[in-house]
Amino acid sequence: MIARPFGPTGRNVPIIGQGTWNTPLRGERAEEAKRALRRGVELGMVHIDTAEMYGDGGSERLIGEAIRGLPREQLFIVSKVMPQNATYDGTIRACEAGLKRMRVDYFDCYLLHWRGSIPLGETMRALEQLVRDGKTRALGVSNFDVQDLEEAQVALEHEPIACNQVLYHLGERTIEQHEVPYCREHDVAIVAYTPFGRGDWTDSRGAHVLDAIARKHGATPRQVVLAFLTRDPIAFTIPKAATVPHVEENAAAGDLRLDAEDVAAIDEAFPVRRRRGGLPSL
Ligand code: NAP
Repeated sequence: MIARPFGPTGRNVPIIGQGTWNTPLRGERAEEAKRALRRGVELGMVHIDTAEMYGDGGSERLIGEAIRGLPREQLFIVSKVMPQNATYDGTIRACEAGLKRMRVDYFDCYLLHWRGSIPLGETMRALEQLVRDGKTRALGVSNFDVQDLEEAQVALEHEPIACNQVLYHLGERTIEQHEVPYCREHDVAIVAYTPFGRGDWTDSRGAHVLDAIARKHGATPRQVVLAFLTRDPIAFTIPKAATVPHVEENAAAGDLRLDAEDVAAIDEAFPVRRRRGGLPSL
């Protein structure tokens, strides 16, 4: 599995991680989701993404159960505070509650989930305090456009922004025009969420392009998609999969290298469109 520096953190992180939004939280499907998470870690997908919002804390709890007994220092665990909780005290409380639910001592990165109405400076101060207190190793943001990133950077006194987690898939590539160049220049990791989009590429002219590239590499179209989204040296992605076969398929994308011809063909089939309005998000 290819790994690369995660922004300024000094950590080498595998390019394919694991998302957990809408992970089943009860019954046999939850047990399978936990097996899938563990299998993913075994295959190198040690970057596990969650948020206090997911399953109302249930996702943080389920991850805690899934990783029990695994060496903590090998994992790279990210969680997020919801904007309505992101006052100074609220951010500290949200992080501490998340750690307690997961039964771990620290997160590797703690993010503001998206920008809300609470002044950014207040949230950034709290995130810096969490780093100082050892409750998270690094801090980051999500769904931030360039202007938000600039404001956050100004508000931070001691810590750099480690990552910006953003919507990025074949049908939504506008971050390549704005946020990716900014993040490259400022050493901020880009983490692509919802990498499979709405799956609309499975029934299109582009599907034939992906099929042909997949065949050429002995890979699957989904693996080609993940490899394309992580082709930039600052990019990572966090597909969510709740079954072992899906996780195994996704993990193998971490070893797939596309050549210039592949990238050009995908670029043509799934062009970057002009952004209308602000940064797209789910
Ligand atoms: P996604 O990862 O693009 O797609 C998830 C869907 O793809 C699930 O239905 C999953 O099925 C299916 N899938 C995964 N691997 C597959 C495979 N190999 N073959 C067939 N189907 C496969 O969408 P997402 O969950 O929206 O995004 C990923 C993660 O990003 C989230 O889980 C979350 O951690 C994060 N995220 C962050 C934000 C934010 O605002 N920061 C927003 C959205 C998402 P199964 O579950 O049945 O395996």
